[in-house]
Amino acid sequence: MQRIADVTSAAAALSWDQETYLPSGAAGFRAGQLSTLMGISHEMFIGGKTNELLSDLKTNKSLSDKEQKNVELIEEEYKKQNKYATAFVEQMSQAVSAAFNAWQQARKENKYEIFSPHLEKLISLKKQECDLLGYESHPYNALLDLHERKATVADLDVLFSNVKKELVPFVKQIANAKQVNNEFFFQHFDKNKQWDLGIDLLRQMGFDFNRGRQDISMHPFTTGLSQNDVRVTTRINENDLAEMIWSCIHEGGHALYEQGLPSDQYGMPLGEAVSLGIHESQSRLWENNVGRSLAYWKANFKRVQDIFPEQLKKITAADFYQGMNRVEPSLIRTNADELTYHFHIMIRYEIEKAIFEDKLKAKELPDYWNAKYKEYLDIEPPTYTQGVLQDVHWSHGSFGYFPTYSLGSFYAAQFFEQAKKDIPQLQEQIESGDFSLLLNWLRKNIHIHGKYYTASELCERITGEKLNFKHFLTYAKNKFGTIYDLR
Ligand code: ZN
Repeated sequence: MQRIADVTSAAAALSWDQETYLPSGAAGFRAGQLSTLMGISHEMFIGGKTNELLSDLKTNKSLSDKEQKNVELIEEEYKKQNKYATAFVEQMSQAVSAAFNAWQQARKENKYEIFSPHLEKLISLKKQECDLLGYESHPYNALLDLHERKATVADLDVLFSNVKKELVPFVKQIANAKQVNNEFFFQHFDKNKQWDLGIDLLRQMGFDFNRGRQDISMHPFTTGLSQNDVRVTTRINENDLAEMIWSCIHEGGHALYEQGLPSDQYGMPLGEAVSLGIHESQSRLWENNVGRSLAYWKANFKRVQDIFPEQLKKITAADFYQGMNRVEPSLIRTNADELTYHFHIMIRYEIEKAIFEDKLKAKELPDYWNAKYKEYLDIEPPTYTQGVLQDVHWSHGSFGYFPTYSLGSFYAAQFFEQAKKDIPQLQEQIESGDFSLLLNWLRKNIHIHGKYYTASELCERITGEKLNFKHFLTYAKNKFGTIYDLR
C-alpha cells in the first residue's frame, strides 16, 4: 500500500505542478504522464498480490485493532475497484476528456448545446456505473457512496427538506431587514500585501510551513503528498479583499486536517481523511465558524487595518464582521454567503436525483435549473455560463459530489458547538489570536483517527448524536439574527 501511495503521491505532485507552475506548452505531455502514473497505481492495486495478501491477513490473529481496520477498509476498496472492467474505465475516461473540453468550449461561447450530448453520454455511463457498483433503494446511492461512504438519498432528503423548510423563509426575512454594508471590501488592495497577510493567517492557525507551502492557482485547492508535505493554493483579487482571506482560511482548514493525519499510517486508510464531507467540515469550521466570527476579527482586524490603513481607516472590527456576513441571493455557488450557499447545493442535489430517477435528460437541464433558481433564490441566470454551466463537476462525471459541501457545513456547526462546550475558554482564546486549544481538539477528536470511524460514527462519538441540522440552524439563527437585528 505504501508503494502504491508513493506512485499516487508522485501523480499528486505532478498535478499540483500542473495547476501552479507548468508552462502552458507542456499540458499535453503532462496529461499523459498523469494517466500513466494513475494506470500504474491502479494496476499495482488490482493486478498485484493484493487479494492473496488480504486473505492471509484476514486470518492472521496477531494483528492489532488498527491493523485489522486497515485490512478491512483496503478489502472494501479492493472489491469496489474490482467491479470496474478496464474497458469501462477507458470508455469513461475518454467520455470525461471529451465532456470537459466541450464544457470549456460551451462556457466560452455560452452555448449549452455544445455540452449537452456529452453530458447525456456521461449520464448513461454513470447509470451503468450504478448498476456495476450495486445499490439499495436508489441508483444515486451508489454514486453518493463514492464521495461520502454510506450517504443515502433517504438521509439527504430529510436534510434538504429541513434546509428548504427553515432556510428559505429565514433568508426572505433577512432580505426584508436593514442591509449591512460590504462595499469597503471592493477597493484596491495590493497583491503582495495580501499575499503576506494570507501567509500570516495560515501561520496563526497552526499551518506548519516546514511540512507544507502555499502558492497561487486559478482555483484554490489543497493537496497532501504525504502528512509531511501538504500544499495549499490561493488566489488574489486586487479588487476584492474577501476572496484571498477566506480562500486562505478555507484551504488552511483542509491542510491542518492533512497535516494532522497520523504519519505512521502513510499509504493506509488510517492515514487518510474519513470522507469528503468530513474534509469539508474542517475547511468550513475554520472558514465560517472561526474565520467569519466576531471573535476572530477582534484578534485580527487591527492587523489588516495596519496593512491597508487608507482603505479601512473608517471601518471598525464590527463593520468588517458584518460586511463579510452579508446575505444576498447570487448566481454563482462559489461566491455565495453561508446561508444561500445551501440553496445552490439543494438545486444540484434535486437535479442529480431526478437524472438518476430517469426523470430528467441532459437537454432539459437549463430550463429545470433556471426554474429552481427562480423558485429558491428568486433570480434568473442571464447566461448558461452563469447558470447551468458554472461548475466543473458534471463535466468530470462527478455526480453525488455536491451534497458533501452542505454536509461539511452542517458537520462543522455541530463540531464547533461541541468544541465550545469542551473548551470553556475557547472564545477568549480566539479573541486573543491563539488557536492552539481548538487545533488540539480537532487533532485529538478528528485528525488522528484517519478513516478508523465512518463520518456518522465519528460525529456520534464526538457530539453524542448523528448529524443533526438543528445545530447549523441554531448557529445560523443566532449569528444572522443578531447581524440583521431580527429579534
Ligand atoms: Zn473545500
